[in-house]
Amino acid sequence: MSRTPLLLERLAALIHQSVRDEAALHGLLPIHLQVLAYLARANRYSDLPIAVAEYFGITRGTVSQTVALLERKGLIAKTADERHGRRIHLALTPAGEAVLAHGWARKLDAALRKSGADDSALESALRALLGALQHHNGNRPFGLCRRCAHFLSDAQGHRCGLTGEPLAAEQTQKICRDWAARPSAAA
Ligand code: SF4
Repeated sequence: MSRTPLLLERLAALIHQSVRDEAALHGLLPIHLQVLAYLARANRYSDLPIAVAEYFGITRGTVSQTVALLERKGLIAKTADERHGRRIHLALTPAGEAVLAHGWARKLDAALRKSGADDSALESALRALLGALQHHNGNRPFGLCRRCAHFLSDAQGHRCGLTGEPLAAEQTQKICRDWAARPSAAA
């Protein structure tokens, strides 16, 4: 067996330790911090409790408890969907954004830059590995909107080919639960 799986396991453990330590600083559990980070990246089709459950592979009950706690702490806010009355969107408040401002992901990014690793090659390899594991586990890929098979763009602007709805530029930079791979491209 190659040494890569052991390296990945060690990295995952170190990252989890960082998440745990950082969450504790804010009086949170790791999953609370992870949900905040997810919501910061999720598009409007994916900032829903059901999408949070899918992304992390956790139950709706756990999501409900997490959402209730984050809301109580003033870190997220709920908004009713304008067209689907019972659908609730979740968004970070300024306090929630502040929690993420100097988070572990930024420290990891800084360490990566310092290491001199080829960022682009590493990203491609990790994306391929992530895709393979998600496929194996039957998870949705949650890819970047701009790289989705349904993404349409012309002089009029951006549009989702799946829903037919226009997409604001900032939404195209986010991840989506309905993302689909292009025939010859990765997310
Ligand atoms: S284009 Fe794809 S990723 Fe973007 S909103 Fe539509 S389904 Fe989601």
